[in-house]
Amino acid sequence: MPSLKKKFLNLDCPVEKNEEYKVTIIAMSSDGSGIAKINNFPIFIPNTAIGDTIKTKIVKVLKNYAFGIVSKIISPSTDRIENDCDVYKQCGGCCYRHISYESELKLKQQLVLDNFKRIGKINAKINNIVGSDNVSNYRNKAQFPIGIDENGKVVAGFYAKRSHRIIPCCDCKLQPTIFSDILKTILDLFNQYHISIYNEHKHTGGIRHIYLRQADFTGEIMLCFVSAKKNLKHSEEICKALVDKFPNIKSIVLNFNNSKGNVILGTECYTLYGNDTITDVMCGVKVQISPLSFYQVNKPQAEKLYKKAIEYAKLSKNDTLLDLYCGIGTIGLSAVTQVKELIGVEIIDKAIENAKINAKINDFKNTRFICDDCKGAVKQLKEEGINTDIIIVDPPRKGCDQEVIDTLIEFSPSKIVMISCNPSTAARDCNLLEQNGYKVIEYTPFDLFPRTAHVEVVCLLEKI
Ligand code: SAH
Repeated sequence: MPSLKKKFLNLDCPVEKNEEYKVTIIAMSSDGSGIAKINNFPIFIPNTAIGDTIKTKIVKVLKNYAFGIVSKIISPSTDRIENDCDVYKQCGGCCYRHISYESELKLKQQLVLDNFKRIGKINAKINNIVGSDNVSNYRNKAQFPIGIDENGKVVAGFYAKRSHRIIPCCDCKLQPTIFSDILKTILDLFNQYHISIYNEHKHTGGIRHIYLRQADFTGEIMLCFVSAKKNLKHSEEICKALVDKFPNIKSIVLNFNNSKGNVILGTECYTLYGNDTITDVMCGVKVQISPLSFYQVNKPQAEKLYKKAIEYAKLSKNDTLLDLYCGIGTIGLSAVTQVKELIGVEIIDKAIENAKINAKINDFKNTRFICDDCKGAVKQLKEEGINTDIIIVDPPRKGCDQEVIDTLIEFSPSKIVMISCNPSTAARDCNLLEQNGYKVIEYTPFDLFPRTAHVEVVCLLEKI
């Protein structure tokens, strides 16, 4: 029973911390927690599924909602499947390992629809979500924090939720199995050579993270030691041992990061072995990838997404295609043979360097890549008198800046194709465009990140 004190403090709140309540999960939040209600008061409970009836223990109470954990499953949802990962609950990277993939796709479809309707006030047609062929081992990139355990041994794993305590784990179900083999070998070598490991509290020591990337077409692997020191002792022996055992490693890089914050990568890279980049093939285009450049983590699925974006763009040989937030140029380059000219804009200079080289190695001459903030670059292009009928935008999670939206409206292309990894900001941006002479014709959700809460969406907007 809630105490009198609690009742006195918040008459509307029907739950109390550390108390248990029987509830049924009726919906999911955008971050993959189940939602139950007591007297209309929402409780967020991770690792649950719609239809579960559970006993929940309340762990935190706020003014308008509370958080609970599962203390007992009374009757499980029919969506449930056996979870196949030992560290699933501690890690928090996957929030849907305990439900069928079919149910996960339904949730993601609904989430995109809800965002577009509620935030965007958009009534356009939504197509069925495109699911991923692989729901395991699909990530081509991994970043592992490195630390020292209580026995003085080097460990790698992931941070426990909302903390910087490393839970040792080399086997993530979302990553290629070769990553765990490489990681285990690195830990052995670090222990053997007594490599200096970063201490976050004292801000001393060297290695902070191991970062791995694999190009799935060529199989080439890039290994990156993220370190607070610019040199790595026994670098030659370590690189040799790794390359001898894993010949697919074509690039070993030291990334220097001595900042105190949570940002994983610094801006300086020093190649210790092999090439500065690895090469992949995406949508038939050869691409070189640097450690600092953005590259889609689920490539086969990203290819499907790009194909849809290009289908929406209905390109012709007279078009100048503007690819904003272009990264290493992958979207635009995969459509460059269909247009007169491609102009890509991206803020990271290494990514633009990659984009230029990518155009060159594929012998595409009708390209121009600009390293700048989209805000400034689009204004500049307008001043230059560049005219375009079709703009593709693929912004980061926070969406397009208001100034970018304003310049898009000023540019006035007949079509805008918006790709987004965040349906809520995409819905907001589409709404702004709908208020300024555009209409969302249709949109399609894509699942690039099975088992996690993330979902991508591509939409077609036309000038009316
Ligand atoms: N279209 C690319 C990259 C998409 S991710 C692909 O599919 O691979 C978003 C990209 O936007 C990142 O490469 C990021 O560096 C870039 N970016 C973020 N803010 C930016 C800004 N204000 N101006 C230009 N590029 C930006």
